[in-house]
Amino acid sequence: MPLLLLLLLLDSATAAFESPESGESALPPRSGTSCQLLSREVLTGNSTTPAVHRLRLSLPPTARFPRCCDDSSPGMIHVRVKAPDAAGQPLRFNPYSAHLNPDQRSFDLVVKVYPGGPPAHPGVSGYLGELAVGDRVHVPEIRALDWRHESPRAGLVCFGVGVTECVGPAEALLENGGEVRMVTANRNAEDVVLLEELRELLVKYPTRFRVRHCISQTTAAETNLAMVENESMTQGRVDYRVLMEEFGGKWRDGGAAEHFLMVGTAAMEQAVIGMIARARLYDFSKIRGHPLFLLIKGPHGDNSKWVALSPSESDESVEL
Ligand SMILES: Cc1cc2nc3c(=O)[nH]c(=O)nc-3n(C[C@H](O)[C@H](O)[C@H](O)COP(=O)(O)OP(=O)(O)OC[C@H]3O[C@@H](n4cnc5c(N)ncnc54)[C@H](O)[C@@H]3O)c2cc1C
Repeated sequence: MPLLLLLLLLDSATAAFESPESGESALPPRSGTSCQLLSREVLTGNSTTPAVHRLRLSLPPTARFPRCCDDSSPGMIHVRVKAPDAAGQPLRFNPYSAHLNPDQRSFDLVVKVYPGGPPAHPGVSGYLGELAVGDRVHVPEIRALDWRHESPRAGLVCFGVGVTECVGPAEALLENGGEVRMVTANRNAEDVVLLEELRELLVKYPTRFRVRHCISQTTAAETNLAMVENESMTQGRVDYRVLMEEFGGKWRDGGAAEHFLMVGTAAMEQAVIGMIARARLYDFSKIRGHPLFLLIKGPHGDNSKWVALSPSESDESVEL
């Protein structure tokens, strides 16, 4: 199959997978879709790239997590955050990866806060970046995507803040006995976020988890930071050679890399698929119809639709 055709086919199989709409994002906020900002933590302070914030938001008591994945896993959860209408930008909403906290009453978003906003851009991340603790946020919708949580050998490529979408699956795969190898891609060593979470997993699973940080704009000396076992940092961008080095050959159980997750912009995710082909990590000539090597099942999976964060019955509109 020609690579261009394959790349077009794969577009709907990555995190940008299109789900049917509920229509809730067009409606005003109500108590069941209004979440309070409980805390904010700035994860990066590097002035050359936009900062990344961890926001903890309350979950309304009526909130529901949509059914997916044949009830075998909660799925990869995304929420839509809607910023108030602005001149030139009447419908400002974007999806974010959501992480439910153990108390089940709050969830975290890890957001890269881009400068710029209305009227030229929606500026949803900028809106999230400016909220004060205690403010309320409109979170109209939620969805869950099905993925291969039983994968025995998974290679994860996580660009920038995209690592937020990788940590949960990595943890679940390791808990299920799988082997996980992760490549992160950032401009500067200071931009790598969620290091604490990654290192906890590296310590907990010393034989089945490894991480390589690829830093594109840092000198070799600066990449010489303290690493834990099975963690490395190299200078340069992610390319097919990096994927060959990290994901190629036999893995611990003697098998080859079986599934891949790539999280970044659509262009970055497409580029990784090209690298997988060039590194010969998967035999693309065998692909007939939708490929099975992606960790996200896409059209093969039992995905939820976008659903309202809370059912609409007996719910009052609220002012934000
Ligand atoms: C399924 C899914 C899950 C996502 N999960 C997360 C998540 O967990 N955390 C997160 O931070 N983001 C996530 N995103 C991206 C998020 O939805 C927004 O696209 C992002 O926050 C930018 O939106 P904005 O409205 O602030 O930017 P815009 O208003 O569109 O742009 C504001 C400014 O930022 C620039 N800009 C916007 N995006 C980029 C970019 N990628 N690189 C460089 N410059 C840019 C624009 O050019 C503009 O100057 C996810 C996207 C998808 C599809």
